[in-house]
Formats: sequence, C-alpha cells, structure tokens
Amino acid sequence: VSFEEMGLIPTLMDALRAAGFSKPTEIQSMSVPAIVSGGDFLLCSQTGSGKTMAYLLPVVHMLKQREQEEGYMRRAKRPKIVVLAPTKELTEQIASVAKSLCHHAKFRAVCCNANTGLSQQAQKMAGPVDMVVATPQRLLQHQAAGNVALGDVQWLVIDEADTMFDQGFGEDVTKLLGILQKKQPPVQVVLVSATMTKGVKRLADAQLPNLLRLEA
Ligand code: AMP
Repeated sequence: VSFEEMGLIPTLMDALRAAGFSKPTEIQSMSVPAIVSGGDFLLCSQTGSGKTMAYLLPVVHMLKQREQEEGYMRRAKRPKIVVLAPTKELTEQIASVAKSLCHHAKFRAVCCNANTGLSQQAQKMAGPVDMVVATPQRLLQHQAAGNVALGDVQWLVIDEADTMFDQGFGEDVTKLLGILQKKQPPVQVVLVSATMTKGVKRLADAQLPNLLRLEA
C-alpha cells in the first residue's frame, strides 16, 4: 500500500512529503492500518526499519481524527500520547520526528529526559501539550511532582522495550503501563522491540494478553 491508500490525514501527507518519504517501509505498511483499526500491538522491528514513523503516524492520525470528531481541547499538563524510550538520546531522536509531525498537525510535543531540569520541562507542560516523549523515570518524576496528569492519555508507545528491561527500567515501565490501563477508556498500547526477551514476554503475558504481533 502507498501512504495515500492508507487514508492518512492531509497534514500528515504534507509532513511525509516534506520529509521526502515517498512510500512506506515494510513495517509502516503493516503498522499504520493495523494500529488505526485498534488493539494492542507488538512491533518487532530493528532500528533503521522506519519504526519511529511506524508508530507515530497512526497515533497522530488518530488524535487528529478524534480532535475533528469530538472537538478535543488541547490542555496544559494533559497529554493524549505518551512515548517511552530507554535513553536520553533516543527520546531526543524520537522527539525530533514527533515535533515535525506535530508541527504539521498543529499539535505540541514535549521531550522529558534528564538532559534538562525538571522545572524547565514542567514549564513546557504547563502550556497545551498533546504528546510527551520521555524516559520512564523522568515521566514518573513529573507525575509525582504534579507536572503532568496521565488521565487523558489514549495511546502509549513503549519503544525499545527489550532495552528497557535490560537496563533496569522494567519496573518503571510496568508501573506506568499499570497506571494507564486502569483509566477509562484504557490506553491503546504499542510495544516496540527488536527481540522478544524474557522481560518483554513477562510484561506482555501479565499486562497485554491480546497483543497482536507485527513483524517486518
Ligand atoms: P527508524 O527505524 O525509525 O530509526 O528510521 C530509520 C531511518 O529511516 C530514519 O532516518 C528515517 O528518517 C527513515 N525513514 C523512515 N520512514 C521512511 C520512509 N517511508 N521512506 C524513507 N525513509 C524513511
């Protein structure tokens, strides 16, 4: 399928044109229609496969559609999309792609990691925020400090889930997932992992019983 055939909103088509992406990668051809149709997914794909766009395109598309249908109000401290990644560098990389998509879709993305102080990031989230890209530890710190409220989150992406567990962030990820699944309606989850390690499998078995696997 082409990006056109996926039925992505025009602002995202503009963003793809601006980025010079003429056709979807293999994982993107599978993930965009699948994620938009609903359910929790495991994306088994390596860095370099286009995995960042494979999860960002469908979630931004759905948020825009929901905004148009329901007259969604962008609110301070209340993101709708959360993307978790294990390292500062990775959150920065994802945030730069997210910010370009958000710019086209007129949304606002904020990056939260240990590169900048808590208060500086808190200030950014005090304005309207649609998406937060964060390390799990930093997001929990902001939540505890009341800088961010997770009650409106509808989409959660856990990128490099295997690395999260390898580097000891499994507990934080499990905790955040638990918080977001308790709310109504529960979040739609996209787990991204190059390999199905023990930690990832345990998380999936315990908290994501209906995970659908997409591999490219
Ligand atoms: P990722 O796997 O997300 O790290 O992406 C790897 C590289 O592929 C990045 O430099 C992206 O900008 C690029 N990329 C992502 N999607 C596409 C696409 N549809 N066409 C061409 N390049 C892409």
